[in-house]
Amino acid sequence: MISVTFWGLVFSVTLLGDASHELSVSPCPNVRYWSYFLPRDSDLRKVQLRVASFDNEVSVPKTKKEEIARLSAALLAAIDAPVPVNPTCKISKSKFMAGLQCAKRGYLQVRHPELASSVDDSRMQQGIEVGSLARQMFAGGVLVAADHRHLSDAIRDTRELVANPEVHVIFEATFERSGVLVRTDVLKRNGKGFHLTEVKSATKIKPEYTDDVSIQEYVMQGCGVQVKDTNVMHLSRDYIYDGAVGADGRRVYDISRLFATEEVQPQSDGQVTRTLDEQFRVLAQPQPPNVEPSSQCNSPYYCEFYDHCHPVWADNDIRSLPIAGCKIEALRDAGITSIDQLPGLIALRERFHLTKKECKFALGAKEKEVQINPALVAELEALRYPLFFMDFETVFPALPLFAGLRPYDQLPFQWSVHVRSKPGAEPEHHEFLATDNNDPRRDFISSLCAVMGEIGNIVVYNETFESQRLSELTSWPPGFAGRIKKIQHRLVLPVVRNHVYHPHFAGSYSLKAVLPALISEMNYDGMAVANGQDAGLAWESLLQGGLDQEERDKIKNALLEYCGQDTLALVRIMEKLRLPCS
Ligand code: SF4
Repeated sequence: MISVTFWGLVFSVTLLGDASHELSVSPCPNVRYWSYFLPRDSDLRKVQLRVASFDNEVSVPKTKKEEIARLSAALLAAIDAPVPVNPTCKISKSKFMAGLQCAKRGYLQVRHPELASSVDDSRMQQGIEVGSLARQMFAGGVLVAADHRHLSDAIRDTRELVANPEVHVIFEATFERSGVLVRTDVLKRNGKGFHLTEVKSATKIKPEYTDDVSIQEYVMQGCGVQVKDTNVMHLSRDYIYDGAVGADGRRVYDISRLFATEEVQPQSDGQVTRTLDEQFRVLAQPQPPNVEPSSQCNSPYYCEFYDHCHPVWADNDIRSLPIAGCKIEALRDAGITSIDQLPGLIALRERFHLTKKECKFALGAKEKEVQINPALVAELEALRYPLFFMDFETVFPALPLFAGLRPYDQLPFQWSVHVRSKPGAEPEHHEFLATDNNDPRRDFISSLCAVMGEIGNIVVYNETFESQRLSELTSWPPGFAGRIKKIQHRLVLPVVRNHVYHPHFAGSYSLKAVLPALISEMNYDGMAVANGQDAGLAWESLLQGGLDQEERDKIKNALLEYCGQDTLALVRIMEKLRLPCS
């Protein structure tokens, strides 16, 4: 037997006497087709192994060791050689990246884009702003202006710019190879080649950027354009905006400190071609690949087919329970798919390793009951009046809006507080919303401190979020740190999340899911601003200007209604949980 081993693969050739033979190739994702040929000569001097995917042929002499080493090198080269990509359609870089995140996402983007939910394009808009700022780092750059509807023009213009040695920097250069189309953020000429720079609005290098630059380099090299190195330029969290504004009223950032650039090593041509070949093979199928929803649905990017792949679970489906995903899977593997089929406490604990709390929720759901942890009674009795119900709204823009802020710093712009002075008293409502173009932080915290007084517990829905925002406000504006710390000491830990489960929560603890389950007459349906993201976008639209008074009033009212509803919801939920005052 001659055995050649590399990359964990074994190609083994067995020669038995003059007449019989056996050849096997171990399973390998890189080799899908193989065949062999044995010359029918008398001494079986050679076996020819043909790995069809790579269209390579190598000969295996029977005995010579040095020839086996040559075979090993030849096969290794064959495996690393570009696979002839067999495009069944055209894909862009973003579709290639989608296919890497999830084969089904890549397939649906190309074959069934109509199944996607509408996605928030504010992030895309932010990326465009960051990209155009990054261009200021490259003086004299020429933009390939033809857009995605005129790609052949963009490719032609790119070819001309690449061929023109007078052009040192190209923005949005466009290339196509083997059915893959890429647009590069920045190309900077260096001798006969180019430095490639991809601009990201993130604040650090992420693993997926390797794939991002790899596909760009692959396509460019295939078009005969030499890539000297591949870089990612991203926002820097070390940068603090100084508040500078230009004559036109626009914010002026120190670009050299706003961005950081790091080199990212691309993958080999062989790796990229294998990935592409696999993606095109999937795209050629009549049906999307069967992929179970999992952590990839949110990472590295939120998938626009989330709703399509995540139906709302029926009340009786065990996937609606707030139980760790791996335990749900174990239950389903055991044939337990509905809440009615759940076994008893001992089996849940010992066989499926549910925590005490998970058992309580699971069995409560089986009994179709709301589950309230008995410890809640003592916690509620310990609350001190006046009782405050508080909620903040914030934005965290990539490009800081006011002096002293870094990229993605949280900026609070609105609060709502309901106060119940004593058990049974009607709650009083207080609120704040910044509506002009000034930094809202000073007015936000001074108005809040004026309402919160010195005593009484403070109920928030997500204690970590509000507490972190308060901590940030201790460093700016000056003069509030002492009062803020006292407010933080009065915060109550999350009551619902820690102590309550209702079958109608459908596995979610968002206030939007919890409120209608506990208080049937309250929900967020039909509200112009119905979640935190809407609130941030609405507030930023107030800042950008260009709205008439009627539109501004409409937005302000929608924001006030939404934040007020959040704290009123807390009041009602606490009543429902049999707060002594109710
Ligand atoms: S929701 Fe999840 S499983 Fe469905 S396509 Fe997107 S990433 Fe894939």
